[in-house]
Amino acid sequence: MSMDKTRALAEMGIKPVWRLRQPVAAAAPAETMIDAPAPQSEVPIEMLIELPQTMQPESNAPVVSATATLGWEELASTVASCRACGLCAARKQAVFGVGDRQADWMFVGEGPGAEEDQRGEPFVGQAGKLLDAMLEASGLKRGENVYIANSVKCRPPGNRTPEADEIAACRPYLERQIELVKPKLLIALGRPAAQTLLGREMSISSARGKLHRYGDIPVVVTYHPAYLLRNLPDKAKAWVDMCFAADTIADLND
Ligand code: SF4
Repeated sequence: MSMDKTRALAEMGIKPVWRLRQPVAAAAPAETMIDAPAPQSEVPIEMLIELPQTMQPESNAPVVSATATLGWEELASTVASCRACGLCAARKQAVFGVGDRQADWMFVGEGPGAEEDQRGEPFVGQAGKLLDAMLEASGLKRGENVYIANSVKCRPPGNRTPEADEIAACRPYLERQIELVKPKLLIALGRPAAQTLLGREMSISSARGKLHRYGDIPVVVTYHPAYLLRNLPDKAKAWVDMCFAADTIADLND
């Protein structure tokens, strides 16, 4: 093992180095492996599940129609000038996303914090350093086969959790990013990201360790790095989730 990887594991609070060896099908009880919605990629997620009223697609329908065919540059410039929800009021800039636009791995977080708002890139503060360590420990690197985006592109004031209507307003941008990247695997970092991708309320503890789906793309749910910075013992669980994600990708590549 390289020293870099050793350091990355240490930063995650992981001492023993191990990986899940069993195939994905054996990593969790069979009935928990596939969560709703069913893999019908052409069917909008909203048609497959009952969304809370605040997440109903009516609120963001105009943005959907405007973004569905945009390429990367038009999408980025649309996000940069977007005023579709109240989060535009206090932002320094919208934070679009970063990384390999043809990545196999796509990580989805919650929203920009103060440092991200300043620099225009997701996950650049302390939480970003931990995410980079999680990537490195998994043999990944920001920008190489990895794309990172957030559920909302503008910083919620005081780093509060984004409201459901703000997530709904911004969701078409994330959907279009996913369509353009076409990742093999989505990793939801934290509860808001999981709810954005899966379209329903859930707790992280109930969502971890199961293979969910966004259309036909598998989704693994884990903790947000900012949460892990406040709850150090849960870093070990995040490492288990990253191993689960790596095994899922490996199975897809077999
Ligand atoms: Fe637009 Fe999203 Fe920013 Fe709201 S958070 S203003 S929907 S880019």
